[in-house]
Amino acid sequence: MDTPLIAKDHAELRLGDSFCLEVWHDNGFTRETVTLIAGIINDAAIDAYSYGHCWSLALALHGLTGWPLVFLGRPVCDPDSKFPHFLAGDVCGCQLWHLVVMADDGRILDIQGLTLPVNLEETLSRQGLRTFPATTEMLRAMVSSPTAVAQNLPAARIFATAIVSQAAI
Ligand SMILES: [Zn+2]
Repeated sequence: MDTPLIAKDHAELRLGDSFCLEVWHDNGFTRETVTLIAGIINDAAIDAYSYGHCWSLALALHGLTGWPLVFLGRPVCDPDSKFPHFLAGDVCGCQLWHLVVMADDGRILDIQGLTLPVNLEETLSRQGLRTFPATTEMLRAMVSSPTAVAQNLPAARIFATAIVSQAAI
């Protein structure tokens, strides 16, 4: 089945439309085009919004919930990291792994849906990560980093609506 060509900014995208996104793998150095169905949270969507497109989704979730943007990341710069090193406010870009939104009570939302604080703590400690409130400097640096994928808000908004609805927020 041919994937219909959607306008570059996906502005006309509707729930259920197929479209393509370029996804990061290998810490951003291998790119692959995956086909998604707008609003359908399947393996391809989890792949795309876990690797590379988390920030568009987080911006869309922020718009819907008002919850602040929070990075999950490494406590300190790791010189051996394959992630690019660049100044991102007070931290190094290699520390910023994943962007989510977080409620006052510590619940987070991303493509995996709602994660409760107790489960988040377990995930963070297992992976040696911590949370960073996202600053403008961090966001700006991340967006202009050498391996950043393009922002895609229209598609992210459709997924964000599905996530918020499923999480009954
Ligand atoms: Zn670094």
